[in-house]
Amino acid sequence: MHFEKLTSKSVTHLSGLLQKDACRLKYAPAISTVMPQKNFNPAARFGSIIHNIVEQVVKDKLQLASFENVWTDLTDTYNEELKIDGFERFLPIQQHYPNFEIQKYRCLHLLNYLLKNYCEHPGTEQIQAEVPLECPSGKLKGFADLLVKKKTGELILMDYKTNNPVNEKGHIKLGYEWQLKIYASIFHDMTGRFPNHLRLIDLKCKEHSLAFNQEECKQLHQNLLKKLADLEDTLKTVTNPNELAKPNQENCRFCNKKITCDAYWRENESINQNQSWDDVRGNLSEEPIALLNGKLRIRLQKGSDYFFIRSVEADALPRAALGEEIAVMNVKKDTCVGHFVFTTLSRIVML
Ligand code: SF4
Repeated sequence: MHFEKLTSKSVTHLSGLLQKDACRLKYAPAISTVMPQKNFNPAARFGSIIHNIVEQVVKDKLQLASFENVWTDLTDTYNEELKIDGFERFLPIQQHYPNFEIQKYRCLHLLNYLLKNYCEHPGTEQIQAEVPLECPSGKLKGFADLLVKKKTGELILMDYKTNNPVNEKGHIKLGYEWQLKIYASIFHDMTGRFPNHLRLIDLKCKEHSLAFNQEECKQLHQNLLKKLADLEDTLKTVTNPNELAKPNQENCRFCNKKITCDAYWRENESINQNQSWDDVRGNLSEEPIALLNGKLRIRLQKGSDYFFIRSVEADALPRAALGEEIAVMNVKKDTCVGHFVFTTLSRIVML
């Protein structure tokens, strides 16, 4: 069996290949054509709203007085997209994204901060949002959220993050560090100069500066290109995609391929054993039972094991015929082994 070339070129998506023990199956989109590509990721949807609105402000298309209206329009658009993608049950995002209202006001606060400290700051000569970056080989691409040129001639390349960009030690998370440094190297390839500063800014308007040296940025960039080339070579000859899989907690947790990933399901019990949540897969082995709270309890059978999932909302259960195989993702573990609770972030998929 032969697989097509890699199709993704996004630094954000691919920089995880630099990780020790990276799962290469995760980065092989050709293989993933047999796997669902879409996954409900409220954080990513929310991040898009924020990026879009900041871009409009920086490009001076949006006065802050219209923030409320633009925010409402954007959330309506994203709700429509969720509907088209088949995630009606999670509508509206306003009710399913944690602390949505608080995050909205943080976004407004961030806009004020960017206007004051960058866009309208007397020391700023030029500012650009969503700056396209592409390395000369065309193999890697990305967008820098902000590029600020100061009157002193210094350049600041910035990205903003809607989640916490630092680890428990207060250091910028490795994935973000790689992304920024590779952006800096690509920027150098495109313009002949490196930015003077690399920064992340979070929704609390906290700036995180990333120390870097040019050699290290170039090296990371070259390493990623090499990893990609190796993977493309492997894809030409691999006969069993599972050979590329490295299932473990770190790799699989947010992987949108896990629903249909055999390697994941083989290991999911040990991967999730210390977690409070889990994913369950099996055949619907009895008619759903209506509970007094108006929700359902379903029973799945896998081999000789039974899994019981309570509090399932009726509209979350596809019209599965008895005996069909389904996966129930993101369920909370109940107190008894084999028992789970369906939550607002759980999801049922027919296999
Ligand atoms: S679910 Fe895990 S093993 Fe499967 S592709 Fe994703 S990261 Fe790899």
